[in-house]
Amino acid sequence: MKRHHQVLIIGAGPAGSAAAHTLARSGVDVALVDKAHFPRDKLCGGLLTLRCRKVYRSIFDAPWEGVIGHVSTGVKFLHEGRLINEILGVSELFFTRRLDFDHFLLDQAVARGAVTYLGAAIADLDLPGKSCRLHTGMEIGFDALIGADGVNSLVAKRLFGRSFDPERIAFALEVEVDRARSPARVDDPEIHFGLARWGYAWVFPKKDTLTVGIGGLLAHNPDLKATLQRFHLERFGLPVLGKIRGHHLPFGDYRRIPGRGNVLLCGDAAGLVEPITGEGIAFALQSGRLAAEALIEAGAGAAALAGYRARYRKIATEFDHARRLRYLLFPGLSERLFLKALPGIRGLPLKHLELMADEIGYGEYFRHLLTSVAKHPGRLFHLLARRGQ
Ligand SMILES: Cc1cc2nc3c(=O)[nH]c(=O)nc-3n(C[C@H](O)[C@H](O)[C@H](O)COP(=O)(O)OP(=O)(O)OC[C@H]3O[C@@H](n4cnc5c(N)ncnc54)[C@H](O)[C@@H]3O)c2cc1C
Repeated sequence: MKRHHQVLIIGAGPAGSAAAHTLARSGVDVALVDKAHFPRDKLCGGLLTLRCRKVYRSIFDAPWEGVIGHVSTGVKFLHEGRLINEILGVSELFFTRRLDFDHFLLDQAVARGAVTYLGAAIADLDLPGKSCRLHTGMEIGFDALIGADGVNSLVAKRLFGRSFDPERIAFALEVEVDRARSPARVDDPEIHFGLARWGYAWVFPKKDTLTVGIGGLLAHNPDLKATLQRFHLERFGLPVLGKIRGHHLPFGDYRRIPGRGNVLLCGDAAGLVEPITGEGIAFALQSGRLAAEALIEAGAGAAALAGYRARYRKIATEFDHARRLRYLLFPGLSERLFLKALPGIRGLPLKHLELMADEIGYGEYFRHLLTSVAKHPGRLFHLLARRGQ
């Protein structure tokens, strides 16, 4: 059997569904291929920020409350088990199960007219010939292709020889803890530093479970599983009972040129996971929308990539700022200094939340940090003097 679509999208996660919804709404003949049947799960903390809600609302129509299992207005930062800072009652953080969230997005894209081929792995992808063959034997031709197929992207591999750089990739592990059986009550998310190198651990409250996870640059963390087991034991007084699952995470190693010719990459396939927080869903949605808008404006030719790159630049600039800032945050000594300074730097926790809500960028955040330190050099001196402790 043979089919043809103006735009074919490989991957029906947040990036793929955002692109499909945007294209279908503009009357473009678009299809999504995914190897999974939906609803399908995806390993994820399921934390959605105000930034994510803003992007979501700019693409989709339905209110998302039905797929939000928990809302929190605070966040706790800890270092080696000790509470360093707590931000309460200032901003909302939302928690979802990807099983529900991704299905909800896909349903909306389908309602707008996107065609789906689900449970359909790619058997062959012929980029110059603009066609792909599914395991079912069906052949699909396309004018333009969007690779939204996640961190192990087949499309990125075909374009650039590999899906990601193994030297720069991060890895994350998670386990679900039944809330009802947890000896610790957790209503606000916890971010734990000092456990993973160039990364952190977390406890995120969902509707019925707590998601306990750890992630960091793979090259610096050969022992993540043992660290997660130790963290779980210390935090809950119990060994891990559930299944530990792991997944790669691009964590800031994004593609400067997100595609080639009539092929555009979005979301994790383009490496769009924030270099400090590890937030990826908002950028998957945003890049899916931007790729679709570039195709709507320029058609399936090479001009689409130029249009996409121009739109993509804002995300890239923010990621570059964050990549620089993480040298201040993550290496052992500076991580401790930064976390100690955090409560003392006036307004910084609030700035952090404004950053996560996309109300300010990393440039302003960094300026605030430097200005505060310059205004209170005594505080910095005090911290440096105590750095051996
Ligand atoms: C442990 C962990 C925790 C995380 N926690 C958070 C968090 O709390 N908040 C947050 O914002 N981000 C988080 N992230 C990042 C977030 O999960 C990703 O950034 C996000 O899922 C990217 O969306 P995507 O649409 O690009 O890719 P994906 O969600 O990975 O979707 C890709 C889709 O492509 C399909 N696919 C793949 N290959 C093929 C193929 N060859 N043929 C057909 N289909 C294919 C897959 O089945 C999948 O449905 C976390 C990541 C990890 C690993």
